[in-house]
Amino acid sequence: MKKFSIIISCKISVLLLSLTCTAQKPEETEVWEPEPEKVTPGSTAHDAPSDAIVLFDGTDLSQWVGQEGKEAQWKVENGAMTVVKGTGAIRTRQGFGSAQLHIEWRTPDVIEGEGQGRGNSGIFFQDRYEVQVLDSYNNRTYSNGQAASIYKQHIPLANACRPPGEWQTYDIIFKAPSFDASGKMTKPAYVTVLHNGVLVQDHVELIGPTQYIGKPQYQAHEDELPIQLQDHGNPVSYRNIWIREL
Ligand code: MG
Repeated sequence: MKKFSIIISCKISVLLLSLTCTAQKPEETEVWEPEPEKVTPGSTAHDAPSDAIVLFDGTDLSQWVGQEGKEAQWKVENGAMTVVKGTGAIRTRQGFGSAQLHIEWRTPDVIEGEGQGRGNSGIFFQDRYEVQVLDSYNNRTYSNGQAASIYKQHIPLANACRPPGEWQTYDIIFKAPSFDASGKMTKPAYVTVLHNGVLVQDHVELIGPTQYIGKPQYQAHEDELPIQLQDHGNPVSYRNIWIREL
């Protein structure tokens, strides 16, 4: 009888827990203050160094795969690749752990939408840790969701966004997390980001994978996983993508 009542009370707790979970809203993890100060970046040029793996040189998507491992459907034109709405995220064929990534991105020059709906894409390390890509040039949204934020985790130190339609750079140092044999996280992930040459994330500690709703928690995963570029429905372009494994 005691065992039975324990089972019942466990089931009730699980039910209550799931009710609490479903009641959570994305707004609960939005942080609006402080708003990062605007900085006008200088010019930047970054050719791949000799030991880099070139992930996109402007010609084709041979290093990338689309949804369910099928061919990537994004458009390649004039040395850039552009999100084709609805075709889904693309991922590198190769998996990566800790790495230095250089990537250039451009949000559409025709302004459409606002907040999170304007020029949204993202770079996910190990398929789950997002550095946000967004048109944050005169486009207020929650600070921990603007360009160069670690989405819903870290506000950038400055807003170094160029106007829409202009090419921008990210230089990102990603340190992969570690897990022990039981799956427990033994070392968190760390990220450093330079946006157009401006330090915007300074070795920040990630609290888990990127999550739209609620607080994330680490879950053990392989050491080397693809880099994912997000299809958030906006025609964001990328070019000159190279990586150095650390
Ligand atoms: Mg995004």
